[in-house]
Amino acid sequence: MAACAASDRGRSPKTHRRRHHHFALTMPVNLPAALATFSALTRPTRLLPALSLATFGDVPVPIVIPGRDIRAVVLDKDNCFAAADALEVHAAYAAKFAALREAYPGNRLLIVSNSAGCYGDTAQAEILEAATGGVPVLRHTRPKPDPACAQDILDFFLKDPSTGVTKSEHVVVVGDRLLTDVVMANTMGAAAVWLHTGVQKSTSIPVRFEQALLSAFTSTGILK
Ligand SMILES: [Mg+2]
Repeated sequence: MAACAASDRGRSPKTHRRRHHHFALTMPVNLPAALATFSALTRPTRLLPALSLATFGDVPVPIVIPGRDIRAVVLDKDNCFAAADALEVHAAYAAKFAALREAYPGNRLLIVSNSAGCYGDTAQAEILEAATGGVPVLRHTRPKPDPACAQDILDFFLKDPSTGVTKSEHVVVVGDRLLTDVVMANTMGAAAVWLHTGVQKSTSIPVRFEQALLSAFTSTGILK
């Protein structure tokens, strides 16, 4: 950015504006994630999980959150119960996954991924449903943490009264990403269980950024 500013020095304001306009159009932007970043900066409590664990293997069954009556569970897929891009339960978590299925039968366990079942995908979702013994995979067009995705989740549980879910507060979301899984859960009123490591600790820039954001807020006392 500094180099860009330096090279722009002396240009007319009009040229300057056009260059930045071009930059904005060509940069790949996940708008919901960008808005979640803004939301996290303005309302940092949305980054804060109710429970922070290392991996899916550490998830308690049943999932007990103080002050909550948890009736249904949303599971992220990538780097949560499955390795990134895998369409099956990670071998080390098979027993944990089975225990969750038993504790949350039928439609009380729902997989919500930003890959399988998202953006019109049905092929990956069907493979995943078969590989998990029939755990439903939400078909949704907007990725987490989009409010439309949160609404699709609530509608999924509401349409089956046997889930016992009558409001988002009855739901817990388990996932490895702060700016998608945790922010969506907190924004919709569900509880968030954050897996800070997952199958494999990620070193990607978005993951390092969101984790640095959370530690900055906690180390400065903004979040406790
Ligand atoms: Mg994930």
